[in-house]
Amino acid sequence: MKNHYIIPIFLTRQGCKSRCIFCSQEHITTKDELTQDISAKIKHYLSTIPESAKNVEAAFYGGTFTGLDFISQEKLLSQITPFIKTGLLSGIRIATRPDKINQTQIDFLKSFHVKTVELGVESMNDRVLKNSHVKMMASLLPDFVRIHPVLVLKGSGLETLYKQGKYKPLTLQKAVNNCLFFLNEMEKKNIKVIRIGLYPSDELRTMGVIIAGPFHQAFGELVIDEKFYRIITKEKEKKTYKNSILEIKSNQKDSSAIRGQHKINIKHLKKKYGFMDIKISENIKMKRGSIGLFRSDIKIT
Ligand code: SF4
Repeated sequence: MKNHYIIPIFLTRQGCKSRCIFCSQEHITTKDELTQDISAKIKHYLSTIPESAKNVEAAFYGGTFTGLDFISQEKLLSQITPFIKTGLLSGIRIATRPDKINQTQIDFLKSFHVKTVELGVESMNDRVLKNSHVKMMASLLPDFVRIHPVLVLKGSGLETLYKQGKYKPLTLQKAVNNCLFFLNEMEKKNIKVIRIGLYPSDELRTMGVIIAGPFHQAFGELVIDEKFYRIITKEKEKKTYKNSILEIKSNQKDSSAIRGQHKINIKHLKKKYGFMDIKISENIKMKRGSIGLFRSDIKIT
């Protein structure tokens, strides 16, 4: 059963001194919480969450929380404090930019039970970080990351560039490849990736909000499918296997990603290697992410 819940409170660009070129907060969130009753909102959310849930947090998203002055931050945070004191909420998380956080700010946030600071980083590439004036190192080691490919959203600066022909979005496949590269890099560093691709909220899926770019409702699954496809093709000999049956053994939780969306991996493997059939055998004892490949009765890896 789900144990971790986040109650999102959207700030709609509050605290942002400039506007990121890809930002379209007004279109992907609809509420400005500075003018709303946060307490009422939390009570409403709590009424929909099972009482047994152990970890329920409030999160200030959609702006630069620490870009607000301390009085405004305190005004927002102090509305959450009573819920923490009574044990109804377990903590607070905030979203901000890397250049808007320092030790003084961290100490202030800690005193209001903020447990997690989510940093929006445009790229982990050193050159891009330098060009975007982000005073941080690409060697930053967060506890977890979310990876999102850039989309062209309505009302963003990127929309203007796109319409002027000055920005060309990534194709879906290129975005999958790039995010897979980043996922592999994170896994090498033992950094947890908790989401790949923007959450397909109702606001985001409203007709006309996504102007262009590699959007897919299950983008993260495409990346994991591609990951398995590459593991399988890397481990296989470069031959054709007409009249052979390929058996792929895996943990049952990985079998759908191995097949790929609409069985795309199975189709590609058959086409590439000529297999008569491909079977997936589930084995609960196998480690997540590992596979065993067998051709008919002959183990080939
Ligand atoms: S920090 Fe977030 S909310 Fe603020 S302008 Fe950039 S993308 Fe938009």
